[in-house]
Amino acid sequence: MYNYDPKSLKAEEFINHEEILASLQYADENKNNLKLVDQILDKAELRKGLSHREASVLLACEDPERIDRMYKLAHQIKLDFYGNRIVMFAPLYLSNYCVNGCVYCPYHAKNKHIARKKLTQEEIVKEVTALQDMGHKRLAIEAGEDPVNNPIEYILECIKTIYSIKHKNGAIRRVNVNIAATTVENYRKLKEAGIGTYILFQETYHKESYEQLHPTGPKHNYAYHTEAMDRAMEGGIDDVGLGVLFGLELYRYEFAGLLMHAEHLEAVHGVGPHTISVPRIKHADDIDPSAFDNSISDDIFAKICALIRIAVPYTGMIISTRESQSVREKVLPLGVSQISGASRTSVGGYCEPEPEEENSAQFDVSDNRTLDEVVNWLMRLGYIPSFCTACYREGRTGDRFMSLCKNGQILNCCHPNALMTLKEYLEDYASEDTRKIGEALIEQELKKIPNPKVQKIAYEHIHDIAGGKRDFRF
Ligand code: SF4
Ligand code: SF4
Repeated sequence: MYNYDPKSLKAEEFINHEEILASLQYADENKNNLKLVDQILDKAELRKGLSHREASVLLACEDPERIDRMYKLAHQIKLDFYGNRIVMFAPLYLSNYCVNGCVYCPYHAKNKHIARKKLTQEEIVKEVTALQDMGHKRLAIEAGEDPVNNPIEYILECIKTIYSIKHKNGAIRRVNVNIAATTVENYRKLKEAGIGTYILFQETYHKESYEQLHPTGPKHNYAYHTEAMDRAMEGGIDDVGLGVLFGLELYRYEFAGLLMHAEHLEAVHGVGPHTISVPRIKHADDIDPSAFDNSISDDIFAKICALIRIAVPYTGMIISTRESQSVREKVLPLGVSQISGASRTSVGGYCEPEPEEENSAQFDVSDNRTLDEVVNWLMRLGYIPSFCTACYREGRTGDRFMSLCKNGQILNCCHPNALMTLKEYLEDYASEDTRKIGEALIEQELKKIPNPKVQKIAYEHIHDIAGGKRDFRF
C-alpha cells in the first residue's frame, strides 16, 4: 500500500493519485491470481465491505466464474440489506444558470443557444403540485452554480416553498439537494432548512482531467470541490451522496477514487456516504463527445454496480433515467436501491411539457415512462416501489442511520414502511391495473414481516390508509 493518509483533510492526500495508480497496477498484476480473488470474495461474504484496492482487483478480474460469484454476492447483499424494495424519487431542476465551464454539460456558461430558465416560487408551486399529483414524495433539487441568479437564499426559499405545498393528500417529505460545492456556513443553512441528503458528483477524481474538463469558473478548483463533503459534514449534514460521471476518465481510476472518498468519510467522520450515484455520460446540447470518450459498456457498468454494492454494502445506490429500461432491469438486482421515475431534466416541464424550441434539458432521458408505468413495471419484476422517507423524518440520519443498517435492524422498519407508502400511492395515484397488482403484492408482503407486533400494526395502518388516513411510519 502506498503511504497515504485517508484521514487527511486535503483532497490530494485522501484521493491520492499515486495510491490509485499503485492499486490499479496491483489489480492488473493480480487479476488472474484466482486464489487472491477468492480470498477477497470470501472477505466480501462477511458483508463488511472491501478496500478500494481489493475491489479494484475484482474489477480487473475477467474470470467468468468469479464474475458470476460477484454478481450473486451483490444480489444477496442487496436482498439482505435492502430486501426487494426500491425507493422512488424525482429530480427537480430549479435553474440552469451557471457560471462554470464544464465541457460535458450543456449548462456551461458559454452555451448561448440553450434556453436559460430559473423557476419562480409560483412556478415551483405548480411543478411540485404536478409532482405530488404523480405520487412523488421525495425530490432531488438541482441548480447550476451562479451566485447572482441562484444564490443560497434562492435555494433556501425554494426548499421552504417545496415543503409548504400540500395538495390533496400529496406532500414532499424529503428534499435532497444537488448544488455546487459551497461554504460550511451555507451547508449549515441547508441543514437548518431540513434537507435530506446533500449530493455532489465529483465528476472525475483524476485531478489533471478534472482541471481540463472544468476549465473556467469556481468549479475549476479541484480541492475545493473534492473537500466539499467534509465541509458539508462540518456544517451538520450527516447524509452525503457521492458520484462520478462515468465516461469522463478511465473507469478503473474513478472506481478506486470513489471508494477512497468513501473510506475517507468513514475515517474522518465515522460515517460513509449515504448514497452513491452512478451516472454515465449522455448526449446533450453543445457537447463535443470526443473531448471525453471513455464511455463504458453496459456490462462494465453492471460490474461496477455489483462491486459498489459489495465494497460499500451500507450505502444506497442510485440510478437515474439516464439509463434505459433494459439497463435498469439489468442492474436492479445487483444492488441499486433508489431510482428516479418520470423525470424531466429540463427546468420546469412537470406541469407543462417544455416546447421543443425552448430546450433547457441537461441531458436526454432514456427512460420516458410515467411514474405509474415504472411502479407497475417494478412490481411485475417482484420489487416493492417505496415512497418511504421515514428515517430522515425520525432523525435517523448519519451514524444513527448507519448503525441501524449495520445491525440489520433497518429491515424491521423499511419493509412495513415501503408497504404503507406504496398503499398510499395505490389509493391516491395509481391506475386500475397498478392498483390491482399492488394490492396483491402488499397482501403477500405483509405476511413476511418477521416481528408479529410490527406485522399487526402494519396491517392496521394499511387498513387505516384505505380509510383515508396518511403518513404512518416506523
Ligand atoms: Fe454548471 Fe453543473 Fe453543468 Fe457544470 S455540470 S456546467 S456546474 S450545471
Ligand atoms: Fe429508507 Fe429508512 Fe425508509 Fe428504510 S425506513 S426505506 S432506510 S427511509
